[in-house]
Amino acid sequence: MTTPEALDEESANSIRGRLDAARERIAEATARSGRAQGEVSLLLATKTVPVPLIEAAMEAGARLIGENRVQELVAKAAALADTPHQAHLIGPLQRNKARAALQYAGCIQTVADLRLAQRLSAIALGPLAVMIQVNTSGEPTKFGCGPPMAADLAAQVQQLANVTVSGFMTVGLNSSDIRAVARSYETLRKIRDTAVRGGLGSASQLSMGMSADLEVAIAEGATMVRLGSAVFGARPTTNPAAGG
Ligand SMILES: *Cc1c(COP(=O)(O)O)cnc(C)c1O
Repeated sequence: MTTPEALDEESANSIRGRLDAARERIAEATARSGRAQGEVSLLLATKTVPVPLIEAAMEAGARLIGENRVQELVAKAAALADTPHQAHLIGPLQRNKARAALQYAGCIQTVADLRLAQRLSAIALGPLAVMIQVNTSGEPTKFGCGPPMAADLAAQVQQLANVTVSGFMTVGLNSSDIRAVARSYETLRKIRDTAVRGGLGSASQLSMGMSADLEVAIAEGATMVRLGSAVFGARPTTNPAAGG
């Protein structure tokens, strides 16, 4: 490919190297937590990441990406049509964008209320995997349903015809206090355990942990970590003046 966007070998190698390093961190954290290798999958958070970099990651074996915005999910799906992969939606979904999201997302990780789930079930063509997003940190800026409601919401969503709850997702507390971060991940694990004990056997996934705290999340039971900057480097800031 000779588009102006084609990636030079050096950049492709650096993606490969960072992906390898991320896999190593996951493997070490999994071992340290006494868990079996392979229990934790890697989703690449690709918001703002140009397609050639995503392709480089896929050439290095990555298969699962997560996008935050439906518009970006759709645009990248077209560009990545020839590259075998799966995409999840990991940002909030407005009901009026549900149809577009469903065309390309294999899982909606951000269901936090019954109305969105009902809408998804009404328009899904086949069984659709969703996760219940929980605001485990209590930060007002964070999206997600409250921890006390989460297991009940999962049970209600599971009743809908065309959706299956595959697990729970959270964005952990943004803090350098590792214990506090761990508590928010522990909260999600307990919700998952409650749901599974209550009969929701399918809802075993825990999507939690990002570049800065994947070790904490894996120690608390994460089955999927979502990494962006660890693999792709720092994202451009939204303020162009600060972008350098
Ligand atoms: C950006 C993002 C991530 C990845 O964050 P990094 O710190 O870059 O690893 C994970 N989850 C969600 C929901 C995100 O928006």
